[in-house]
Amino acid sequence: MTMFDEAVQAAINEQIKVELHSAYTYLSMAAYFESINLSGFASWFIMQSQEEVKHAMKFFTFVNDRGGRVVLHPLEQPEVEFASPLIAFEAALEHERSVTASIHRLYEVAAKHNDYAAQVLLNWFVEEQVEEEKTAGDIVAQLQLADGHSAALLMLDKQLGTRTPEEHP
Ligand code: MG
Repeated sequence: MTMFDEAVQAAINEQIKVELHSAYTYLSMAAYFESINLSGFASWFIMQSQEEVKHAMKFFTFVNDRGGRVVLHPLEQPEVEFASPLIAFEAALEHERSVTASIHRLYEVAAKHNDYAAQVLLNWFVEEQVEEEKTAGDIVAQLQLADGHSAALLMLDKQLGTRTPEEHP
């Protein structure tokens, strides 16, 4: 097995925290949507949160498979209150953009240290971030169209509530 550079390990450990912080952020958004009786939105964010835990675990497994050492960092409290469903989803989109930037920085570290295995793993995440930003962006656009009208919000709530866990995330 090729050497697992300390700098790459540290950057991946940092990314594990980013993914778990995403899970925590989306769980907080689920709690917000429950508090305003939009249980479809809440259910969508619970699924999203669970996917983020899976992302963290992909990195967790990778570090261990490479003979590295996972070190978990403290998590900050996520935002609790949002002024509207649109503002919550805009925050989710903004969050995904920051995760994309973080994945790209990690990719740069892996490339700099010629860690090809890490780059292969990160290719999946680069693609995943394109999907995440598109999904969040589409829902932001739909919420802008809904313009706070209850009937449209309830329709969107029903639609988002049909989301099922991905089989191969
Ligand atoms: Mg993620």
